[in-house]
Amino acid sequence: MPPHTDRIDLGDGHTAEWEGWYPDRELNPQLAGIPDVDRWGLVIFHKNPAGQDCAGFVTLDGEVQRRVEPNRANRWTVESWDPLTLSPSVLCSCGDHGFIREGRWVRA
Ligand SMILES: [Zn+2]
Repeated sequence: MPPHTDRIDLGDGHTAEWEGWYPDRELNPQLAGIPDVDRWGLVIFHKNPAGQDCAGFVTLDGEVQRRVEPNRANRWTVESWDPLTLSPSVLCSCGDHGFIREGRWVRA
């Protein structure tokens, strides 16, 4: 079972939640031997420029992620887990653009 994850307040109208990866290995036997990942990626909740709720997702650059999705173009490196710092910046399809640095949202 995935652990409960709390909403992280990044400030500046941005919050986030960790998303884990827990595949059903009976349905996906090719994944046998590949471990679960509690922090596969981060969902970032914010408002789009029109003021409506929006959410983006970043996949972290981890060993399992590289193995399962070798062709993924975009990955984010964790510079620090606590407080959280990711690189590079995060650009949502809605145009919202910023950095997560030391646990805070910093507009680009
Ligand atoms: Zn957005």
